[in-house]
Amino acid sequence: MERFIRGFVVCFSLTFFCAPRNGAAMAFPPPWSGPVASSRTLQIGGSSIQVDFGPGSTDLPPDRIVQWVENAAKSVTVYYGKFPVPRDRILVEFAAGGSGVGHGTTWGGVSGFPAFTRVRVGQHTTQQELDDDWMMTHELIHTAFPSMDDEQHWIEEGLSVYVEPIARAQNGLLSPEKIWSDMARDMPQGNPGASDRGLDQTHTWGRTYWGGAQFCLLADVMIRKETHNQKGLQEALRAIVAAGGTIDHDWPITKAFAVGDQATGTHVLTQLYEQMRNTPKPVDLNTLWKDLGVEQMPDGVRLNNNAPFANIRKAITLPPRQVEDQKKPGI
Ligand SMILES: [Zn+2]
Repeated sequence: MERFIRGFVVCFSLTFFCAPRNGAAMAFPPPWSGPVASSRTLQIGGSSIQVDFGPGSTDLPPDRIVQWVENAAKSVTVYYGKFPVPRDRILVEFAAGGSGVGHGTTWGGVSGFPAFTRVRVGQHTTQQELDDDWMMTHELIHTAFPSMDDEQHWIEEGLSVYVEPIARAQNGLLSPEKIWSDMARDMPQGNPGASDRGLDQTHTWGRTYWGGAQFCLLADVMIRKETHNQKGLQEALRAIVAAGGTIDHDWPITKAFAVGDQATGTHVLTQLYEQMRNTPKPVDLNTLWKDLGVEQMPDGVRLNNNAPFANIRKAITLPPRQVEDQKKPGI
């Protein structure tokens, strides 16, 4: 069975750390053979999503757990225009005595499912913890990009880190103020340290998650600048999925970026990758936030609509339908 595993990504909520591994090193029995006590199938975004529940329960009614999965799947559907894979399986395991969401892992090509996610939910998890959770959305975004070699694991994690809050904002679950506040707080963790090298060579937590997220943010802004804000990273990522670039397929990163660039009519992804793959490129975040109109305050951020690229910032979190409406003359 392991030879069918295309790749997988592990995301822990407490430490926010993800360790790339290969199928050969996987423990036996594999996670997808864990016991299932009950099951639901959701039809979302053109996909059939099988949600299996392991033994145990939470203090919350089961419907709340289903709703949490549904919210995440709908956010991903809003961002990508459809759910990225036609069939998906999610195994929710309950941790006795625990609280909160953790230990998310997503694999490609498991037992006939293009994608499989396992996630753990503590017995005493609260509704607020489900509402605040990023992990389920983060995991499902992993389905929407081809599996990479270990050297390019940063783009798998960077994309999930960057797209997750934007997808939730586009779905109305997070405010733009919240996501820009979090990005302004967390993005500096991606800057290279004194001994760090390019993104393909330094695989620390900061460079993998936040270095990858910086790449995505820069690419998004650059694409929007070059296309007069008509296209962004979102269009590139949708095109990659449409070309078959999902987690159950192994692609070289250059192929994914070529497909993305073609969709936006730019060379942003390919050229930015050339600049950042082997060279530790610090990102001038202070200038970027100023240009986008993200002003850091003691209690969060103030969004300045008079900033030179405020329209780019606004377009990034706008639900896609509204983006389309804005392009139509007279609307
Ligand atoms: Zn991840």
